[in-house]
Amino acid sequence: MPIKNRRLILLLILLFLLIIVGASKLPIAVERKITVFKPEVKKINGNDLLIDVNKNNCLPVDYVPDDLVNISDYEIPENSAFMLRKIVMQDLQEMVSQAKKEGIGLKVISAYRSYQKQGQIYNSWVAQLGIKEAQRQSAVPGCSQHQLGTAIDFNELNFSFADSLVGIWLYQNAWKYGWVISYPKNSEDITGYAYEPWHYRYIGKENAEEMQKQGLILSKFLEEKNNI
Ligand SMILES: [Zn+2]
Repeated sequence: MPIKNRRLILLLILLFLLIIVGASKLPIAVERKITVFKPEVKKINGNDLLIDVNKNNCLPVDYVPDDLVNISDYEIPENSAFMLRKIVMQDLQEMVSQAKKEGIGLKVISAYRSYQKQGQIYNSWVAQLGIKEAQRQSAVPGCSQHQLGTAIDFNELNFSFADSLVGIWLYQNAWKYGWVISYPKNSEDITGYAYEPWHYRYIGKENAEEMQKQGLILSKFLEEKNNI
């Protein structure tokens, strides 16, 4: 066989081998691409009054509402120096003064908490109760509604609060002022949290009225709203 032809055959064999190797590597390359693919992380906007913050939907570490105000600048009783978003204050003031007229003394005992503050609280619960029970009672930092600056714990962290005059008044009237209970009785399967008769979140008057009319608990209402 002439050398020219041999070279040609060798070249063809080489080309053939290159095609085979290339083709066999192709699916691997595709597979690799798929395995390194990461879905886009959902960005949660804490400023949205209807954002659903729960165990599976948490705020960024550095989320701080940009309209925080001191409760002490308003005529609202509190047992320490707390802050809330300005957007909730008018309706809160209205609710507190109406309650007062009816002989009901509302007092804020917790409001905005930073990610770091929530971390301290959560860790102290873990130390007292262990992780499993702590997660029924307290949110992991980043996953607390208190970081939104639109949630309040009223008067006392005690289940008997539900049957007190203040607790009953809040349960019946808070929605008229845009405040709704976040973790109602018998809803732990849905919310992931034990009953908290003292914990209310602000979603605005119109939304609260809609939620009340629909007879939904907050997490279901937010789920529906956010699916639209
Ligand atoms: Zn709370």
